[in-house]
Amino acid sequence: MPMQSEIILIIIISIVVIKYFVDIYLSKLEQKSLYFPIPDMLNDIYDSETIKKQRNYKLEHIRLSNLESFINFIVLIFVLYFGIFGKLDAFLRNQLKHSPISDYLVPITYFFIIGFAYKVLNIPFHYYSIFKIEKKYGFSNYTKKLFVTDLLKQIFVSIIIGLPLLIITLKVYFSLNQWFVPLMFLVFVFFIVFINYFYTTLILPLFNKLTPLPDEELKEKIKNYCEQSKFKIKDVYIIDESKRTTKANAFFSGFGKKKKIVLYDTLLKDFNHNEIIAILLHEIGHYKHKHIIKFILLSMLQIAFVLTILWLFLKFKIFSEALGSPYPSFHIGITAFGILYSPISFLESLLINQISRKYEYQADNFVKKFNHNQNLISSLKKLARKNYSHLTPHPLIVKLLYSHPPLKDRIINLL
Ligand SMILES: [Zn+2]
Repeated sequence: MPMQSEIILIIIISIVVIKYFVDIYLSKLEQKSLYFPIPDMLNDIYDSETIKKQRNYKLEHIRLSNLESFINFIVLIFVLYFGIFGKLDAFLRNQLKHSPISDYLVPITYFFIIGFAYKVLNIPFHYYSIFKIEKKYGFSNYTKKLFVTDLLKQIFVSIIIGLPLLIITLKVYFSLNQWFVPLMFLVFVFFIVFINYFYTTLILPLFNKLTPLPDEELKEKIKNYCEQSKFKIKDVYIIDESKRTTKANAFFSGFGKKKKIVLYDTLLKDFNHNEIIAILLHEIGHYKHKHIIKFILLSMLQIAFVLTILWLFLKFKIFSEALGSPYPSFHIGITAFGILYSPISFLESLLINQISRKYEYQADNFVKKFNHNQNLISSLKKLARKNYSHLTPHPLIVKLLYSHPPLKDRIINLL
């Protein structure tokens, strides 16, 4: 391997190693924070018996995810050190060299194998999390059959969305290379808008049954508040998420007049009307402050930036060589790019989380306008109790990884 490619490989491996140790350090901080004293305003959430259970629940999840990162780390280092990415590429090129469309078949098969291997590596952890931890603490209603069908449907959806996207990307890269950045930008924008628009009509029904909200009284109340805040909706739906979990949630989806409000059936079971309305007002607050549009614009900016760097990056052969392939190739280049870009993408997520936490306060302030503060507080507490939320997260972890402010800060803001 030429000297320069060797240096690149060393940089790639260093990034993987540093990332792993940062993760370990953060997980230690998180464990420590489980024993921080609970602020007075939150001491009605868990009794002394439940707090012990909640701690053990979090500890079990932390341990599982530590094991998962360790295995992923070891496998990735092994793959990088022995140039497996390059070997896989050479093998596929050799097998598919007689095919007239081998330029396309090689990268497609390559990504399929990598994606499949990653999935296989991580399924046991997902399984353990649901059937050993979530079940033990009474949160999971999953059956084995549902687990398998969910998995197959997820694979189906990622192929249906990923394959056309990959073919278009390759086509543009091979035939219209100088227009790669603007054209791929348009393609990604189209996909984002398409998925946002059709999420509740095309994707969600694969996993859940959507039915119009049967509680007419609640529906009237919700429609009333939507009208007051000039929030146009098509209808209010419930989904049968209780088949998977006892945890609760609500969201809306779509644009313009076609927006749909979706409530988990678990929310209807345990929350009173005022609490549900307070949660919805918070969601409407996000919409009124144009948070959704702003996030979509921000992600477009991000995509434009990534595409530009990627396009420049793919011109250099040394990145493919660093991963063990003598030919500069699109798919090997992307693999190297994925790892080399990860420190920048960490910084990006830092910024996005910061903005997102600010938006959460703005959405909570919208609820205040309707004097539903106390109802939102009581539903947030109920959600925390039902989800075994961590009440005293470490400040550094909040800064780095939290998209929502900690419960205590939200309550102070709402009071
Ligand atoms: Zn929110």
